[in-house]
Amino acid sequence: MSSTASGHGPFDLTGRVALITGGSRGIGRAMAVALASAGASIAAMARTATDLDDLVAEIGPNHAIAIAGDVNKREDNERAVTETVARFGHLDIYVPVAGTNRRKKLLDITDEDYDVIVGTNLRAVYAGCQAAVRAMIPAHGGAREVSGKVITVGSLASVQGVAPGMTAYAASKGGVALLTKALAVELAPHNIQANCIAPGFILTDLNRAFLSAEPRKSWVLGRIPAGRFGAPVDVAPTAIYLAGGASDFVTGQVIAVDGGFLSGSDWNQGQ
Ligand code: NAP
Repeated sequence: MSSTASGHGPFDLTGRVALITGGSRGIGRAMAVALASAGASIAAMARTATDLDDLVAEIGPNHAIAIAGDVNKREDNERAVTETVARFGHLDIYVPVAGTNRRKKLLDITDEDYDVIVGTNLRAVYAGCQAAVRAMIPAHGGAREVSGKVITVGSLASVQGVAPGMTAYAASKGGVALLTKALAVELAPHNIQANCIAPGFILTDLNRAFLSAEPRKSWVLGRIPAGRFGAPVDVAPTAIYLAGGASDFVTGQVIAVDGGFLSGSDWNQGQ
């Protein structure tokens, strides 16, 4: 592991700086808290300032800043990187988590729906990575002493169609997975690793109502070998692993955190 030169352990993020989009709620917030608990300083970006302020209060203002912005605006992504480096001196870990979905079947989805879903979930990841990676590479002024990390967030829909009404979302999340693999290849010479976490069914604001309705709830639970939905805290520790020296020889991977969903089929039906 090349990035333990500081003498800290492979899961210790002391001195490292992470920028997390969508860090104010759900999976992104749990990742922000987890990375902070491992020692990282956190810059969290989202549109709603009050949610960000809550996060900064939880982590503590010495180790967290709030950046109000929209990932769909290139200038906001660039400002987020600038503010992060201005506050903490450098950027080591970029975690674009912000995402959205509108479940509509192909014949109902509008161009505006498609643009919002693919824009937020995929185009913004690409634009955000451009801004963040530029700041990580010394030739572009980056000041990184440890391995750099890009941790994207895919989905079950990065690898399968999952259910009706997912065409635009699956297009975006499949794109995120392969964007990550291509980044891994391109950034390896810079000692930057890029990996994608693919959460399964995690209860958050994004899907709580959708997953609570029967018979859907029972259908989904019957296909999760763990027998339950996940929580954001189930996903967050994988981000600690992918953010630190522990994963310096791991790159280009899509890691499912899904209670076994992708490994099974009608799991409970065979009991
Ligand atoms: P969530 O609870 O709805 O949180 C979404 C976060 O993204 C919020 O902080 C939100 O803050 C921010 N956000 C949304 N649009 C934004 C924009 N245009 N600019 C800046 N920030 C924006 O969602 P979640 O369930 O945690 O999902 C997080 C990620 O995990 C998404 O990429 C999602 O696709 C993925 N995922 C979720 C699940 C699941 O089961 N929940 C499964 C697989 C993948 P503001 O609204 O204030 O901007």
